[in-house]
Amino acid sequence: MTATLIEPRPFLHSLLGEAVAERFWSKVDLTGVCWEWTRGLTDDGYGKFWYNGAARRAHRIAWMLLVAPELPDDLVADHLCRNRLCVCPDHIEWVTPDVNTLRGFGPAALAARVTHCPQDHEYAGDNLIVRVQQGRERRECRTCVNEQKRARRARALAKLGAGR
Ligand SMILES: [Zn+2]
Ligand SMILES: [Zn+2]
Repeated sequence: MTATLIEPRPFLHSLLGEAVAERFWSKVDLTGVCWEWTRGLTDDGYGKFWYNGAARRAHRIAWMLLVAPELPDDLVADHLCRNRLCVCPDHIEWVTPDVNTLRGFGPAALAARVTHCPQDHEYAGDNLIVRVQQGRERRECRTCVNEQKRARRARALAKLGAGR
């Protein structure tokens, strides 16, 4: 991750109240690039913070403290740094749940992270062809596509030759 843009302002007054802010930041390690939660975790491994009588995800609270007090419940955090303990707002993008599945570690996301075609040509630069089919991105290898075209042409020519 690159350096954070948002300053840690641990004792900033906020709509959640100074006492909440103080209690919250006392549980965060602000010394690293990621701001890591140092206390209890939710079942799925995110920081857990009690606020208003309920257990909240720590990164939500950090966002509410530093960025915007309102955060729609249907948005989920996509940790760009892939560190679930991190509460740094700069490392988090709020997305709808289906986008998050694609970016996370599901089959779609894993496929998207494949960097080479089955013949080991890199999906990069001129060799990368991106097609959108039914709303999904599909990557193709130009070397292989050209190879297939050449083979098809050769077969067609051979057939013509055989017919003569
Ligand atoms: Zn982070
Ligand atoms: Zn290829």
